[in-house]
Amino acid sequence: MIEKAEFNNLFKNEDKKIPKKEIEKINKYLSNFAKPNKDLKCFKCSEKLGGFFGTFQYGIVHGEGYCSNCEWPARAIHYDVGIIKQFTFILQYHPDKVIKTKEE
Ligand SMILES: [Zn+2]
Repeated sequence: MIEKAEFNNLFKNEDKKIPKKEIEKINKYLSNFAKPNKDLKCFKCSEKLGGFFGTFQYGIVHGEGYCSNCEWPARAIHYDVGIIKQFTFILQYHPDKVIKTKEE
């Protein structure tokens, strides 16, 4: 089973500056995505997503993209996530949120 992304996977809440309610909002957003693994590898095909040789490829929609090896969708630029205006991090969509529209 693929875990969902959470605040603690991506951010540090030093001195508990971010209130619990805000973290809940952020977690609600992040639950659309799979928990990123340590090496930022694609959970489906295990290729490295990020970096110069990474497989992440931007698509037509701003901030959205996919793994160019297996085509699993991901989002790299995130806006208005609770109190966070913007952050950039490749997060793959959680399998619960991905609908396959055609058979290959
Ligand atoms: Zn992949």
